[in-house]
Amino acid sequence: MAAGAAARREPGPGPGGEKRILCVGLVCLDIISVVEAYPAEDSDIRCVSQRWQRGGNASNSCTVLALLGAPCAFMGSLAPGHAADFVLADLQRYGVDVGHAVPQPAGCLPTSVVIVNASRGTRTILHAHGNLPDVTAHDFELVDFSQYKWIHWEVFISKDVARHFGYQSAPEALQGLHSRIQPGATLICAWAEEGADAMGPSGELVHSDAFPPETLVDTLGAGDTFNAAVIFALSAGRSLQDALTFGCQIAGRKCGIQGFDGIV
Ligand code: ADP
Repeated sequence: MAAGAAARREPGPGPGGEKRILCVGLVCLDIISVVEAYPAEDSDIRCVSQRWQRGGNASNSCTVLALLGAPCAFMGSLAPGHAADFVLADLQRYGVDVGHAVPQPAGCLPTSVVIVNASRGTRTILHAHGNLPDVTAHDFELVDFSQYKWIHWEVFISKDVARHFGYQSAPEALQGLHSRIQPGATLICAWAEEGADAMGPSGELVHSDAFPPETLVDTLGAGDTFNAAVIFALSAGRSLQDALTFGCQIAGRKCGIQGFDGIV
């Protein structure tokens, strides 16, 4: 498979010698059915449209970074088979470097069946994790980190994780988790239509309102879009406030369209 030959190849800097952004995490297949209204259980309805889309947090953030014009690379496990060939080709179509995609000899690509309710913009996700092993410490030893200006691995806290810990808002999550992170770290938490909040290295709180689109169409991947746009801005040296605002602007635009094409 194409990734087999490419894996462990160091891509080198982007055009003009610019260092890349590396996103580590999931790539999966999203099978998306867009419906006018959320279906009742045991009903038989027609979709407005249906599509295959490459998904997964790191993979989606790579899509957005590529659309924003940032050289970026994806690192994560890849299964053998047709679905994996589809997502790999799609990463390459966006110009995302796949030199650190790690092909696994066996296993199934994780797959999500997603119901997007076009009248409300909600996305209901049924995720099958698959049985792929994660990338290993050895895989990381093969990465020349000097080629990257930013490595994204889950620094951001999603509202789902925050809720899991019992927090009801982004500021509450930041205050609550502050003592559990390294001094000097920055915590960022997005919260759908509430926008996003962050706590900077010296404990200062920053907020951006959301930028709701004219019509809410599709919120699948809004968080990944927000993360990518914030990373894009921070890695270009912009302030935390600027980055948060930019993240909400781009994520808001994403919520107004199906998929990601058209966010810039
Ligand atoms: P996810 O659930 O995908 O992790 P969120 O729902 O927290 O992500 O949304 C991430 C960002 O996307 C928010 O900070 C906001 O800027 C934008 N966003 C999400 N939903 C909406 C919405 N309904 N209206 C406006 N912006 C939204």
